[in-house]
Amino acid sequence: SKQIHLVSRPTGVPSQANFNLVEVTLPDLQAGQVLVKNTWMSVDPYMRNRMIDRESYIPPFQLGEVMDGGAVGEVVESNNPQFPVGARVSNISGWRTAFISNGEDLTQLPEVDLPDQHFLGVIGMTGLTAWVGLTKIAQLKPTDTVFVSAASGAVGSVACQIAKLYGCRVIGSVGSDEKAEMVKAMGVDAVINYKTAGNLTQALREAAPEGIDVYFENVGGEHLEAALEVMNDYGRIAVCGMIADYNADSPQPGPANLLLINTKKLTMQGFIVMDYFDQYEAFVGQMAPWLAEGKVKSEETVYEGIEHAVEAFLGLFEGRNKGKMLVKL
Ligand code: NDP
Repeated sequence: SKQIHLVSRPTGVPSQANFNLVEVTLPDLQAGQVLVKNTWMSVDPYMRNRMIDRESYIPPFQLGEVMDGGAVGEVVESNNPQFPVGARVSNISGWRTAFISNGEDLTQLPEVDLPDQHFLGVIGMTGLTAWVGLTKIAQLKPTDTVFVSAASGAVGSVACQIAKLYGCRVIGSVGSDEKAEMVKAMGVDAVINYKTAGNLTQALREAAPEGIDVYFENVGGEHLEAALEVMNDYGRIAVCGMIADYNADSPQPGPANLLLINTKKLTMQGFIVMDYFDQYEAFVGQMAPWLAEGKVKSEETVYEGIEHAVEAFLGLFEGRNKGKMLVKL
């Protein structure tokens, strides 16, 4: 099995030097075990936070050990009748081409006619995150104007499409004109390229002349400050992530206008998708028909081979992906 190990902890932006590609020989299978060959793995911004040695909702990666993360694969040898050869499984043993499991950490992919990698993206953790953030945290209503940052990314692109299906007016922000075109093609009403827009608050005011009711926060920093300025009274902010801060070595200053949370009577709530895995079936119940009917489209960027997994991961912080960033193993 080829594996990626974390060999040093980054300061600032991580680099290839923090990782090592290692080849290991797996032992023979014991009773009850299966050999899984991973076919796809996910790279995600939260993994940057796991490179730091600190307590959080998920333990840090250990130095000199293989990392982990979402993956899908196929059972290629089996001593476990629950997972026969050929079974397609999702797992949390990414960053490696193959591994041995007793089955406890494996989930058979549902019998839905979709490409396997969609279970890492639009109908996996990513899609669930967008759906939970909008429907459970922000309590989305059809009359809402919704602002989504990192709108062309994995979570953002699904959030935009769900909000449009709810009947909302949707505004997205993205880091390039090419991404703006993609997001417009998904039906988003107005798109801001935050790299060329100049004053982000001004650009957001123009894109949302009647104000924003829901902000789906993926970025933080200047984006949050601009959103606070343009929010309507009783607006809701679902804090999904703040990627602009992930590579900062010291805590970043908060927006200067936090008082607006008070004066506009805003609600701001963070969430972690892991706490909502019990909602997965309800989510699939909505998402599977949307996908089947072509109402939601999956966008993805694919890097080939575990040798390029680190490049794919680092690419998240350089905006190299449109839609879900994936590695095909
Ligand atoms: P994306 O596919 O959105 O990839 C990251 C994107 O963020 C890049 O493509 C880039 O797009 C943008 N970006 C990177 N750096 C910056 C920056 N400094 N300022 C502004 N934009 C930046 O990743 P995901 O969809 O997987 O994740 C999106 C957000 O959701 C992250 O904050 C992540 O941590 C969070 N998340 C939270 C979960 C939860 O449970 N709460 C679960 C999953 C994700 P561009 O070119 O537009 O800059």
